[in-house]
Amino acid sequence: MRKVLSAILFLVLASSSAAQQTSPASHFDGNSWWSHVKFLADDSLEGRDTGSEGLRKAQAYAVEQLQKAGLAPAGVNGFYQPVRFNQYEVDESKSSLALVTGGQSKSLSFADDAYINTRATRASATLTAPLVFVGYGLQIPEKNLDELAGIDLKGKIVVYLAGSPSDIPTALASHYQTAGERWKSLRAAGAIGTITIFNPASMDIPWSRISVNRNHASMDLADAEFNETPGQQIGVTFNPASAEQLFSGSGHTFAEIAALGKDRKPLPHFALGTSLKANAVIQTKTLESSNVVAKFTGSDPVLKNEFVVLSAHIDHVGIGAPINGDRIYNGAMDNGSGSALVMDIAASLKAHPEKLQRSILFLLVTAEEKGLLGSKYFAAHPTVASKSIIADVNVDMFLPIVPMKILKIGGLEESDLGTRAAAIAQSMGIKPIADPEPLRNLFIRSDQYNFIKKGVPAVKCDVGFELGAPEQKIFKDWLTNRYHAPSDDVNQPVDLQAAALYEEFTRRLLLDTANTPARPRWKPDSFFRRYAAE
Ligand SMILES: [Zn+2]
Repeated sequence: MRKVLSAILFLVLASSSAAQQTSPASHFDGNSWWSHVKFLADDSLEGRDTGSEGLRKAQAYAVEQLQKAGLAPAGVNGFYQPVRFNQYEVDESKSSLALVTGGQSKSLSFADDAYINTRATRASATLTAPLVFVGYGLQIPEKNLDELAGIDLKGKIVVYLAGSPSDIPTALASHYQTAGERWKSLRAAGAIGTITIFNPASMDIPWSRISVNRNHASMDLADAEFNETPGQQIGVTFNPASAEQLFSGSGHTFAEIAALGKDRKPLPHFALGTSLKANAVIQTKTLESSNVVAKFTGSDPVLKNEFVVLSAHIDHVGIGAPINGDRIYNGAMDNGSGSALVMDIAASLKAHPEKLQRSILFLLVTAEEKGLLGSKYFAAHPTVASKSIIADVNVDMFLPIVPMKILKIGGLEESDLGTRAAAIAQSMGIKPIADPEPLRNLFIRSDQYNFIKKGVPAVKCDVGFELGAPEQKIFKDWLTNRYHAPSDDVNQPVDLQAAALYEEFTRRLLLDTANTPARPRWKPDSFFRRYAAE
């Protein structure tokens, strides 16, 4: 941390001229931002679920705003890039889960114990298979961690605790915890399915709220090139409060595992004395949605063919189980906030023209809530030459719910873009910090990750707090009560000044990146550098 900060100070002194060229006054007042948020989070848009009429209305509104700002269409059909999806839904009335121990079968309650996760169960399946506990279920060669070593997983279902041991650096841990990476090694070891137990010490949302929405259909990109878990027959998500029964007769208890998991200590691996009997009935249908893409063309004859991407997802989770009588999950902050910012920044470039050398791509992706799918499709099939994308500045739920004194920069230590973001924040009197809660995996939990995996340096910045400060509780309460709940609506308190300041920061970061002759690069020691084409 110290090393990074002194490097930042040096940068501010040595090369903050670009950041200072822009007017010191803010181009934003928070009001236009809030009016866009209000439109997007209105009940009439029904929570902007992927494939819904509500999302189409939100996108039509966004296109209108981007057009008004003078941006050119950069999709496939005008501003739109169509994307095809498969949707998967469990028919619970025809499905069942049971634990079989010594010939005795005990059925599990979908609501209280465990449910069939359609993100990992893509076709109907009837099977019974023995269970093996594999700790965090990770193979991380860079750290000589192999939790699958020495145990027979052929034809088995692995049981693992979500998370990673504390001695694994965040980026590495995040990478290997993605469904695709984890499944690669489990599949190679012969496993046919997974049971994930949430770590009770690091759950963003309580089980009751997860369970109530468990039957929400899941989605994946329709094209086979995107299937990351081939061969997985079943994926089950387990309530930690019910997990003890998985361990009976194994010589271990879940209490013991949870106690180790609380401090992210290494976990034992062992066969469980139990099998899972699963009958999963999955219904599949196809649907279509779109990304929205617009561009602001730069003025340099050569550099205008390079793009800085400003991305935000415009979808949310739609209509769900009612909480306090409300069924509409409005998604005002998640991610009405980021979508509104994209429209505001576009408008600001018209109201206060800037000569930009590179071009800026304004990207509003679909299906983030379904697993970063719209951005995954865009990163695989960009509507501009793929080598021409030099950076992604992603904005997702930046949470202006306290004054912006601290900016949390996801990717701060990974690339020149992170360093630049920190320098710009400092030049505005805002303290940049790295993610103080690396356990939440935020750097890979939004759309920037799909750009990162294509080698593109990226940042995701949020209004922040320092551990132990009173603001920490405000954010914690927000996550507990409003995150992915109907109360993330426009009846919540927001700090318009913080929103305006965040927008100003983002504008400066985009301009600076578009005008700095050198492309941003990954740091030599960044884990993510591995994805950059040599
Ligand atoms: Zn979300």
